[in-house]
Amino acid sequence: MNDISNTELELSDDEMHLYSRQILLDGWDIEAQERLKLANVLIVGAGGIGCSSAELLARAGVGKLTIVDADTIETSNLQRQMAFTPHDIGQFKAEVLAKRLTMLNPHIQVEYVIAKLNEINADEWIQSQDVVLDGCDNFTTRYLVNAVCKKYAVPLISASAIGFQGQLLMVDADSACYECLFPKEQHANEGLRCAESGVLASTPVMIASLQAHHTLLFLGLNLTPLKSKLLLWDGLTLKQRILHFEKDTNCPTCQASLSVNSLKFDTLP
Ligand SMILES: [Zn+2]
Repeated sequence: MNDISNTELELSDDEMHLYSRQILLDGWDIEAQERLKLANVLIVGAGGIGCSSAELLARAGVGKLTIVDADTIETSNLQRQMAFTPHDIGQFKAEVLAKRLTMLNPHIQVEYVIAKLNEINADEWIQSQDVVLDGCDNFTTRYLVNAVCKKYAVPLISASAIGFQGQLLMVDADSACYECLFPKEQHANEGLRCAESGVLASTPVMIASLQAHHTLLFLGLNLTPLKSKLLLWDGLTLKQRILHFEKDTNCPTCQASLSVNSLKFDTLP
């Protein structure tokens, strides 16, 4: 994260007022709030998860949010994608969400990219982030985000929701990764999406709230409760389980990031 000594980045009186209920918290002081203000967060996917987690981070005072999504808003999105109204049908999700976030909190910077994350653009968008939030709807993008986050040692908080079930996990530079947990050859072709399997309105919002919560804990307090852990939330029983997962010694993503990081050390002066 950036140096927080820059006086230009100190909180204004308006910001102190806006975030006063956080600053009042035991264990969450002005420095924690300033760390949020300095943070850059990339949100991959402006769907059911991305809409809600982005809004929470914007309201909480994360200084810079970048939204990546190529899709336009459809009627069937409105049931759960909280940033959109019938008036927005046909418009780009990333653009409408970014405008809403700017309106909600004029003290933050919001950028958006109308594109799919791919092997050509992912490096550029991911490498400068303090944390990446994945809430996309397909495995190809999930594996790519995981690999590029690992490559640049950018922390990843990955959330998914389908049917009545939600999942959340965190990948950090030295932890097991998404592909350790879900080896590609076993999961790449599953392609479970809300469009095929359905999803209750509240499920993605529930998981997005946990994803945003974890992001705030990480950025403000450097806490990583779900590092190398998978949280499973069952929307029928309301039970939650947290499972630890280990590094897979055969994981190609972890092997590649090891060699990249040793190269970086080799080239240090
Ligand atoms: Zn791995």
